[in-house]
Amino acid sequence: MIKLKNIHKHYFNNAGTVKQEVLKDISLEIKQGDAIAILGPSGCGKSTLLNMIGSLDKPTSGSIVFDDVDLASLNDKELSEFRNKHIGFIFQMHHLMPQLTVLENVLLPTLANPDRYKEKDQQRAKELLSVVGLDDKTHQFPGQLSGGECQRATVVRALINEPQIILADEPTGSLDHKSAGQVGNLLVKMQQQQKVALIVVTHSRELANKMQTAYELIDGNLKLRTSNS
Ligand code: ADP
Ligand code: MG
Repeated sequence: MIKLKNIHKHYFNNAGTVKQEVLKDISLEIKQGDAIAILGPSGCGKSTLLNMIGSLDKPTSGSIVFDDVDLASLNDKELSEFRNKHIGFIFQMHHLMPQLTVLENVLLPTLANPDRYKEKDQQRAKELLSVVGLDDKTHQFPGQLSGGECQRATVVRALINEPQIILADEPTGSLDHKSAGQVGNLLVKMQQQQKVALIVVTHSRELANKMQTAYELIDGNLKLRTSNS
């Protein structure tokens, strides 16, 4: 579904010389239904890699191909349509709009798409909110919810447009241990139920262990992590 081929990402300083090689020759294939964790210490390039898969950032060299489309061939408008249609994002901070209800927040990504049938979206939002245990919070505001509940709402927001891939950047990083466990389990459950690919960037081994496959980002390269490493 999505193929990364020989991805390099360098950051340059003002003089135009390479300041830092964050990613070095990364190749990865993500298929429908995959559940992948990417582990690594702070600053190793996990967000950089995830943002590249989500087309929020561009590699210095190498290609990212979604189905048969090379993302480098798309202009900004096409990229934003691509993201809205195919990718669901979850970040460490929930970024819910405080002035909108939970239901309105999870419906926000549908507004960009004029073709969608609004009543169907409402129905789907309510069903998903019920699956994540927020049926009694649909008309409340984010400020009235706990951190774990807000993050559960962002899982619904990420799924609302029926994406093929969910990209989650430290989704449990700001939660207490119990809520982190619940959100981790929920991500796996939704990944299986909604048949999406899930890529989770985390430094939590507990969360990584819930995924089928785990990689460690070490010195700019991805290394497959075996169960005892
Ligand atoms: P992680 O998510 O693993 O903590 P990041 O991908 O955010 O790491 O960052 C990897 C490295 O790249 C860090 O050293 C960071 O300072 C650097 N970096 C990230 N974004 C930029 C940027 N826009 N310009 C220069 N350096 C950057
Ligand atoms: Mg990061």
